[in-house]
Amino acid sequence: MLDLTGKNALVTGIANNRSIAWGIAQQLHKAGANIGVTYLPDPKGRFEKKVGELVKPLNPSLFLPCDVQNESQIEAVFETIGQKWNKLDILIHCLAFADKNDLSGEFTNLSREGFTKALDISAYSLTRLAKGAKPLMTDGGSIVTLTYLGGVKVVPNYNVMGVAKSALDMSVRYLAAELGSNNIRVNAISAGPIRTLASSAVGGILDMIHHVEKIAPLRRTVTQTEVGNAAAFLCSDLSSGITGQVLYVDAGYEIMGMAGFVS
Ligand code: NDP
Repeated sequence: MLDLTGKNALVTGIANNRSIAWGIAQQLHKAGANIGVTYLPDPKGRFEKKVGELVKPLNPSLFLPCDVQNESQIEAVFETIGQKWNKLDILIHCLAFADKNDLSGEFTNLSREGFTKALDISAYSLTRLAKGAKPLMTDGGSIVTLTYLGGVKVVPNYNVMGVAKSALDMSVRYLAAELGSNNIRVNAISAGPIRTLASSAVGGILDMIHHVEKIAPLRRTVTQTEVGNAAAFLCSDLSSGITGQVLYVDAGYEIMGMAGFVS
């Protein structure tokens, strides 16, 4: 049975009720986990209020600001977990960012700044958060991140984020190799396209979804809840033998070759 009772789970990347992280947090809560949430702070405190209202039904026992580009905020998150929870069992890394200009146009025009920012927020942050989590995962643990097919194959309008996801996928493997001896598992979920704030920055997200609806074996894309269920599985003892993997939760789209070819 999927049971996360007694597990402390930190969930990053909830922006609103469309966020994949929101789908994951709900399923972890349903399975009995004690939830902590981080949000990206903004000067006017609007995100804090918005995300705070949304997550109320999950009774989060921690609610903390965390911009993954801000070292002192990251340190404060793990210090607070150590003080209030004593141990951490689950870390959900569900965030990414790239400037819109770096998601389209000629790839050769990608700026050094755009590349660095996208890779820092979307890929390096996993390793940085894993470093904070490692000493707190004293009973072992599970770290899950979110990736996309655009890190393996060229996908229109994904550009710099494709490179970031590729770096993220490889980070999962290096982290899994290191942390396995601490019984900490590290896996990624490669989700099919879902309408969210982040994906709306990727040009033509609705066209992508319609394309997947035509090609994917299940003839549809996936929901936040389906991704949340897969994440709950990867965080539970049911997946105790799985680490360093990318699990496709994409209605089967990834297996299809010659996508769009009509005979
Ligand atoms: P959301 O916009 O809902 O979530 C992205 C989150 O990243 C937001 O909460 C955002 O905060 C946060 N974020 C951005 N920059 C920072 C930062 N510097 N520090 C901390 N948090 C930050 O979109 P999704 O749910 O779609 O994205 C979640 C993950 O899923 C991403 O890794 C994405 O690439 C991946 N994914 C998404 C797919 C999709 O089709 N939607 C498909 C496959 C993977 P804020 O909004 O407050 O700025």
